[in-house]
Amino acid sequence: MSTKRSTLQRQIILDTIKSLGKHLSAEELYLEIQKKHPIVGKSTIYRNLRQLVDDGVISQIVIDGVVRYDKKTGFHYHFICEVCGGIFDVEIDCDDKFADIIMNKYGFKTNRHEIDFFGVCSNCTDAKKTTPEEI
Ligand SMILES: [Zn+2]
Ligand SMILES: [Zn+2]
Repeated sequence: MSTKRSTLQRQIILDTIKSLGKHLSAEELYLEIQKKHPIVGKSTIYRNLRQLVDDGVISQIVIDGVVRYDKKTGFHYHFICEVCGGIFDVEIDCDDKFADIIMNKYGFKTNRHEIDFFGVCSNCTDAKKTTPEEI
């Protein structure tokens, strides 16, 4: 019985991550899940998030010191909009180049790297462009 229930809770957590498609923190996920499934407790969510990451179903990222959960597991970068706070997946093909530059310059072999890009997303850029015309 308890296994069935925990499988259901795990599914609720996973569905929430997938349907929202955002990079939410555990606290934000908890608040979202509370709306529809108040029965799922905070410790259950934290435990399941850890398990889902361990199982490779979702990935864990750290942006500005905050741990967030990502439905996308393959390697990708993130672009963080400083205006709306949106976190966007960025897929660019320059992984090897970074490793090559470091190898050539320092002789270090790169196993992995993490880069976050901060700026203004296209939605917010558009909003800025139209504002002066509206005045
Ligand atoms: Zn934005
Ligand atoms: Zn992502």
